[in-house]
Amino acid sequence: MALSGLDIYKMLPKTNCKKCGSPTCLAFAMKLAMKKASIEECPDITGEAKIALEQAARPPIATISFGTEDNKIETGGETVLYRHEKTFYHQTAIAISVDDNLSGPDMDARARSIEEISFERVGQCVTVDMIALIDKSGSPDKFSAALDRIMNISKKALILVSDSAGVIEPALKKCADKKPLIYAADRSNIKDMAGLSVRYKAPLALKAEGLEELEKLSQEAISLGATDLMLDPLPRALNQALNDFTQIRRASLKKNHRPFGYPVISFVKGKNKYEIVRDACVFTVKYAGLIVIDSLDKEVLLPVVTLRQNIYTDPQKPVTVEPKLYAFGAVDKNSPLMVTTNFSLTFYTVSPEIEASKMPAYLLVTDSEGMSVLTAWAAEKFTPEIISDTMNKLELEKVVPHKKIIIPGYVSVLSGKLEDVSGWNVLVGPKEASNIPKYLKEVWK
Ligand code: SF4
Repeated sequence: MALSGLDIYKMLPKTNCKKCGSPTCLAFAMKLAMKKASIEECPDITGEAKIALEQAARPPIATISFGTEDNKIETGGETVLYRHEKTFYHQTAIAISVDDNLSGPDMDARARSIEEISFERVGQCVTVDMIALIDKSGSPDKFSAALDRIMNISKKALILVSDSAGVIEPALKKCADKKPLIYAADRSNIKDMAGLSVRYKAPLALKAEGLEELEKLSQEAISLGATDLMLDPLPRALNQALNDFTQIRRASLKKNHRPFGYPVISFVKGKNKYEIVRDACVFTVKYAGLIVIDSLDKEVLLPVVTLRQNIYTDPQKPVTVEPKLYAFGAVDKNSPLMVTTNFSLTFYTVSPEIEASKMPAYLLVTDSEGMSVLTAWAAEKFTPEIISDTMNKLELEKVVPHKKIIIPGYVSVLSGKLEDVSGWNVLVGPKEASNIPKYLKEVWK
């Protein structure tokens, strides 16, 4: 719950020294309450009051970031329980685990494979985000040596996984500038792990069986000054995970319960690839901010990243492709020219059919603000004037002097006006993209 100006005033030094630029502490408190000033502007505020005010000002679920500025991964920061209420902001980060007791060549090969994981979907390059280095050896030297090998190969954000602060710290020293996640503090090591988190400014995951224990651990970590936290309630089964993650999300969003106001991390422990996919998908939907998967199998990763992309694509912002002229095959001045809108799904429905025709062809994509053909036509975003302007800007007359353009069959109504405004010969193409190969063979000889 947001603090009032008076609540904030109670935490200020009340000396009216004016160093913050406000005439009184009360005036400064009012500015803070209205978010017109920053707590940093008061040089005399106590550390305790600063933490309390920062905690009160932050969103119900904190945004936690890992990695460098160039390769930053963010999770949390969500404001709604369900996507249809508004949108989700930070997609569930996916980490792949690497054990520190692998042989050097095996470790290099695994790190390289993680680095190479990439899927192209609706024009977007989809990858995994992080590497979780797991302490299986119990040796600080082996753990650090494994980290060196991984950092030589990959620039991905890191999770350092060990129950021992003694194992974590030497590795943390080497990669503190990459802001790795420390996993994890529990009841037995909370002071040491929180100390590392504060000293190295690295986010800290907390693990405890059950929500009550996790809540206490979170309160303790906050009191120790660790404020960038992630939560793992260590669920024993999928239904318990679903219950725990939902409770944490509800408590933070609906009740602004600070100990639970952090994103959830979960290790996917399915016994076979089907269970791994099932668990990872459930965690992604409800409501993990970060999942760690022990698999490089593309059959496992593709469905998970696909689901994630679907959930975290803002439905209010259509996925688009760049409006421009696309060439398929060895095009020349006699190649057919087709036109469509820049809705990604439309483009990725039409372009495979052009490729399937095996006829070199151009596809002109106009800026329709991401709408499909019929919607754009109805919204006047795919009009003869817009198409003609785009053709002129790209000087298509020089590209295809035959001056013929094929429009989608669903908007055949545009043909007359487009001929008038462009001076081109307009052909009406098929309504369905699947008929493009047949159409081109029959019409474009
Ligand atoms: Fe008050 Fe701090 Fe501003 Fe001084 S700098 S007037 S103590 S709020």
